[in-house]
Amino acid sequence: MTFEQLSSDFYGFENALTAQEKDKIMELRAFLDAEVRPYANELWANAEFFPRTVVDGLAKLGMFGQPWEETRQFENTAVFRGWVALELARVDASVATLVGMQNGLVMGAIAVAGSDEQRAEWLPRFASAEVLGAFGLTEPLSGSDTAQGLRTVARRDGDNWVINGAKRWIGNGSISDVTIVWARDADDNQVKGFIVPTTTPGYAASRIENKMALRIVQNADITFTDMVVPEANRLQRGNSFRETAAVLRLTRAEVAWAAVGNSIGAYEAAVTYADERIQFGKPIGSHQLIQELLAKSLGNITASIGLVTQVSKMLDDGVQKDEHAALAKEYTTSRMRETVAWCREALGGNGIVLDYGVMRHFADAEALYSYEGTREMNTLIVGRAITGKSAFV
Ligand SMILES: Cc1cc2nc3c(=O)[nH]c(=O)nc-3n(C[C@H](O)[C@H](O)[C@H](O)COP(=O)(O)OP(=O)(O)OC[C@H]3O[C@@H](n4cnc5c(N)ncnc54)[C@H](O)[C@@H]3O)c2cc1C
Repeated sequence: MTFEQLSSDFYGFENALTAQEKDKIMELRAFLDAEVRPYANELWANAEFFPRTVVDGLAKLGMFGQPWEETRQFENTAVFRGWVALELARVDASVATLVGMQNGLVMGAIAVAGSDEQRAEWLPRFASAEVLGAFGLTEPLSGSDTAQGLRTVARRDGDNWVINGAKRWIGNGSISDVTIVWARDADDNQVKGFIVPTTTPGYAASRIENKMALRIVQNADITFTDMVVPEANRLQRGNSFRETAAVLRLTRAEVAWAAVGNSIGAYEAAVTYADERIQFGKPIGSHQLIQELLAKSLGNITASIGLVTQVSKMLDDGVQKDEHAALAKEYTTSRMRETVAWCREALGGNGIVLDYGVMRHFADAEALYSYEGTREMNTLIVGRAITGKSAFV
């Protein structure tokens, strides 16, 4: 398949991918255009999860498991995986979130903190989408402060652990087969991770209703009541929040890429509309102030692509730190919020109607802006790196 540069990739950054990576991008684009784009608005309106064919199709394309040697289907870089997140979110931020959770957070937790045996047992099952995963860290009373504030407790009882507590916001937690549950060890007060099949007695999940962003993702409230989990299901290399933070570090920059993709989705719809909509006898795209909205949007997108490309190169080179990923997430999600608002403005009243292609990206921007570290928390991580002083712990 011949590679086609996106007109929204104004400086042609994506051209730097290898020939094989470009082929994969074109396969992914074709898949998304056939299986996700035509149905996304309806699924979003109905707050309905993707059909199984979408999850299986993504698995077949190798979208789950690329960072991990056990499940990698082809050679690829962090920059490529960033482009995947962008291409997914350009069509729909919920499908980007699904891949980010399964591939990054869930498989990442097992890859970073699991034993070799746990990696061998679980990673291939997630890669093939035989099992769908969720990542359970946030709680009703602890969001930004999970490192200190986690209240879910795990008590060792012989070869088992007994877990009690509650989680909130857990993406796909009401439909997952397995959830990675982070809990505080009652003995040493350290945070540990557990691989929990959702059929385990004591696990109860309910979908969060009336959520007005990322409506396709099924976010859940979960409770654990005397839930017994074998020691064999505790992530064996995870003995503190350090490992949890290492997982989040892997995925934060990919959320930054998804924010650029979400902006592009809105921008492309605005460019099309500006060509078709006639006012004062000519397409609105020929009015100067509409051109300004489009030019400012393209400026945000182009600057953001440059930034995320470099932050992923730093990961490939083994020099990316927390503050680098935090700046990328803070910067691109802030620019995304401006961009989707400008694109919505360019559509006038139709900008708030789902069918015109901007509103879903506009609403979904709010979720990307707040999850995986809010703007404030990412700003404070950068502030700590600048000054050497933490303003939040
Ligand atoms: C759509 C969606 C999907 C999600 N998916 C998952 C998931 O799959 N798994 C999971 O574990 N979690 C998930 N989350 C949770 C997400 O990571 C949290 O919402 C996020 O970390 C913020 O926590 P909070 O909502 O409790 O806000 P809070 O921490 O209560 O923050 C409220 C406000 O206070 C600000 N604030 C807090 N502390 C400070 C401070 N020290 N200085 C300045 N400002 C501060 C915050 O920036 C924010 O603006 C998801 C959230 C959403 C919305």
